[in-house]
Amino acid sequence: MSIETISLSGRKMQVSNKEMSFLERLYLVAIVKGLIITLKHLFSRKVTIQYPEQVRTRSTVYRGQHMLKRDEQGRENCTACGLCALSCPAEAITMKAAERKPNEKHLYREEKYAEIYEINMLRCIFCGLCEEACPKDAIYLTTSKVLVPSSYEREDFIFGKDKLVMPLEMAIKNTQLKNAN
Ligand code: SF4
Ligand code: SF4
Repeated sequence: MSIETISLSGRKMQVSNKEMSFLERLYLVAIVKGLIITLKHLFSRKVTIQYPEQVRTRSTVYRGQHMLKRDEQGRENCTACGLCALSCPAEAITMKAAERKPNEKHLYREEKYAEIYEINMLRCIFCGLCEEACPKDAIYLTTSKVLVPSSYEREDFIFGKDKLVMPLEMAIKNTQLKNAN
């Protein structure tokens, strides 16, 4: 196939070098044509929405903000094994492990836990690989309305445990729902 016949968009046009007529040089026809296109768009269905007042319906497999889970006793599941960080293609996850003390058994499920756990949301591409790599069912990307909020400051996008760990009330509610079923 010659180069001239290739047109990825299918809208390839031959440009004419012919002299413009007097009418064409006035550009009146072109302006009217442009106005007709503008008018058509004024009455067609809008593709934009008034976010955040209006929100689009999200897919059931939508990946929102990450959450670090607690078990049915409210203890953090994460054991700071680092597999999520290893599997992350964007290198967005960092953590620091610590040994659980005897009086902390009610806080952490495993003997080792993440003292610091951070996700850089500016790096994250919400691929979900961290969730798939986790052997402790400790991290998941919420399918609900939880979105990463916008900000003008880069530091605001480093999410630590204060933003990532599941609220205790939510863990209690989940357990109550499980027991009721
Ligand atoms: S969703 Fe993907 S990019 Fe984001 S932290 Fe997890 S593995 Fe990394
Ligand atoms: S979230 Fe899961 S994979 Fe990541 S460190 Fe914790 S236990 Fe390991």
